[in-house]
Amino acid sequence: MLTTSSESWCQNQLADQQLHQLLEKVDWDLAEQAHQQGCLFCGGKLHRADYDRKPRGGPEWDYRYSFCCAREGCRRRRTPESVRFMGRRVYAGLVVVLVSALVHGLKPERVARLREALGIERRTLERWHQWWRVTFVESSFGRAARARFLPPLCPRTRPGLLGLSFQVQRRDRRLALLRFLAPLTTPSAWQELVM
Ligand SMILES: [Zn+2]
Repeated sequence: MLTTSSESWCQNQLADQQLHQLLEKVDWDLAEQAHQQGCLFCGGKLHRADYDRKPRGGPEWDYRYSFCCAREGCRRRRTPESVRFMGRRVYAGLVVVLVSALVHGLKPERVARLREALGIERRTLERWHQWWRVTFVESSFGRAARARFLPPLCPRTRPGLLGLSFQVQRRDRRLALLRFLAPLTTPSAWQELVM
């Protein structure tokens, strides 16, 4: 179970430069892969067309890799998966995962400490909490994950268990969790999950 020192643990992770560099490298690899595959619709070449992002509560990541088809008449966008960003979320994927893993019961004192430590609003925390417990669990991705990873369990306990089954306290396991969630982060996949 997560302990009362979770908040400071969380803060330490957010300041972990090595983890940040690792996540940046993974994102770059995912982007390179997409770039080499080309446009999914016409096979055309892709040009860089990154999205501006200003993630809060985490590292200074200013943009998310994205591409545009170079072929006249197509010009479709292709946004690779990411272990740093989740959909249009302003907060970095890392922050969302860490904090969501921590927030089990949203006890008032815990919420207050997290808000203070990370500058995250109560409303935002509650949204994430809701997202993990309901939207994620009910999504096709969440259901598939449940079938794949865990014995049948009450769906409402699932997000915490997801974190625990990945042992998010370990850096390599945290990366595994972010990689696991990466398919969710493309705009099309995200549509199912937006609140
Ligand atoms: Zn194209």
